[in-house]
Amino acid sequence: MPDNCLFCRILKKEIPSKAVYEDDSVYAFEDINPQAPVHVLIIPKKHIATLNDIKQNDPVLAAIFEVAKKIAKDRGVADSGYRAVFNVNRDAGMAVAHLHLHLLGGRAMTWPPG
Ligand code: 5GP
Ligand code: ZN
Repeated sequence: MPDNCLFCRILKKEIPSKAVYEDDSVYAFEDINPQAPVHVLIIPKKHIATLNDIKQNDPVLAAIFEVAKKIAKDRGVADSGYRAVFNVNRDAGMAVAHLHLHLLGGRAMTWPPG
């Protein structure tokens, strides 16, 4: 677990965060700079840098999407709609190199994204 990884530090509670959901393999918390009324980050507890680094059939990926479904339902956006986004590396504007699914909802969004 890299000492300098921001989200590993959040997992170690060295940096506070607003928890939304937690189990053995996944943690979800409020984004500090929300881009929509619902903006939750869902991360694996083990350090994985990006989607490129996920091993085939790693169950944590399905776990992350199950948590996304649950939070979307709990926050009342499952039917109105939401985005579930992994940014990967530079061109996607990835700022924190610890895999995180952005769950964004609660407002109408445009396509294509910027
Ligand atoms: P990325 O651009 O890497 O896909 O997204 C990183 C996200 O992490 C951004 O939406 C940013 O607002 C969020 N973020 C950055 N630092 C912190 C922090 O210290 N706490 C929380 N809760 N979110 C953070
Ligand atoms: Zn990490």
